[in-house]
Amino acid sequence: MTTLTASVLRPYFELQPQNPDICLATYLWVDGSSENIRGKTKTLPKRPKTPADLPIWNFDGSSTKQSVGKNSDVYLHPVAFYADPFFRGNSILVMCATYGSQGKPTAGNHRESCNEVMSKAAASKPWFGFEQEYTILDTDGHPLGWPKNGFPGPQGPYYCGVGANKVFGRQLMDAHYKACLYAGLEISGTNVEVMPSQFEYQIGPCEGIALGDQVWVSRYILHRLAEELGVVVTLDPKPVQEWNGAGAHCNFSTVQMREGGGIKYIKEGIEELSKYHDLHIKHYDPKQGEDNKRRLTGLHETSSIYDFSSGVANREASIRIPRQVNKDGCGYLEDRRPAANCDPYEVTEVLVRTIVLQDWE
Ligand code: ADP
Ligand code: MN
Ligand code: MN
Ligand code: MN
Ligand code: MN
Repeated sequence: MTTLTASVLRPYFELQPQNPDICLATYLWVDGSSENIRGKTKTLPKRPKTPADLPIWNFDGSSTKQSVGKNSDVYLHPVAFYADPFFRGNSILVMCATYGSQGKPTAGNHRESCNEVMSKAAASKPWFGFEQEYTILDTDGHPLGWPKNGFPGPQGPYYCGVGANKVFGRQLMDAHYKACLYAGLEISGTNVEVMPSQFEYQIGPCEGIALGDQVWVSRYILHRLAEELGVVVTLDPKPVQEWNGAGAHCNFSTVQMREGGGIKYIKEGIEELSKYHDLHIKHYDPKQGEDNKRRLTGLHETSSIYDFSSGVANREASIRIPRQVNKDGCGYLEDRRPAANCDPYEVTEVLVRTIVLQDWE
């Protein structure tokens, strides 16, 4: 139905405005759950050159858990924009941060403090590579392509697999890849995952605040494409018990770690991380660790949520040093703990606070 309607309406999407300079700006923001992204569109006379050229806008925060009752206007401050793969032409997707009437960040705005931390740590040139895993569901909540009254055969043949009996939804993964590149996001790859109808893409390496901005926009594009297909993408970290969960491994480096002999700084960073495991877990999903409890069981290529561990090439550790990094003696570390539905602003802030600023007040 959805797909059919979309093709019937296609001629109207191709209509050009009378004023060819017009720009449709879709403002995006993270809502009060810190988990969902919202968006609405306005017409601008022309495409802006920088985010500062864009008007501040507002919305009704009482519907998004970002304000209460009578004082419900929330401000949208544009912080970054990208080419819009949906409206195309001059149109843009605008990432915004949300502020209340007193100019304070609202619920769900973790960008403000992340940005402060990234500014303080700018000299260390922090890079992040984010592995976003996700699962495609039918509108009935059942994983796409799974038998309706049972389970597919055991895990094994699906990861990076090919064939209609192994991959359910590759078209979405590939369309998303192209749409992200069109937008100008630094998407660095994709793969089919261990559980059937589960996929991954990577954003990065990006420096500083850009990682969070790009991940949130990439998530918007993913949910939008799924909507057009009439399927649902979930970032729930454990959609099906006893099967591989969905994480968001965050790869991290500073300029010191990337230079010759940098492994010394990688190991020092891991030592710092080991001191704050419980605190980090609280920032690695939107429910202070409750979501990740279902995923970080110590099984299915995860570590236990209750222990901190690290190791070279170890995919059952909290922190992995990739084998090649150990061989090269420099590079980056991988924090495997963040859940797929984490807020990348929170995760990147935590890493920089702990490893670079060593500042937990
Ligand atoms: P995995 O083997 O864990 O599946 P992936 O290839 O999926 O790894 O993801 C690795 C990520 O690390 C990519 O997003 C890549 O851009 C990122 N990355 C590579 N080098 C660095 C670096 N020096 N600092 C931070 N991230 C990096
Ligand atoms: Mn209205
Ligand atoms: Mn990966
Ligand atoms: Mn993966
Ligand atoms: Mn990984």
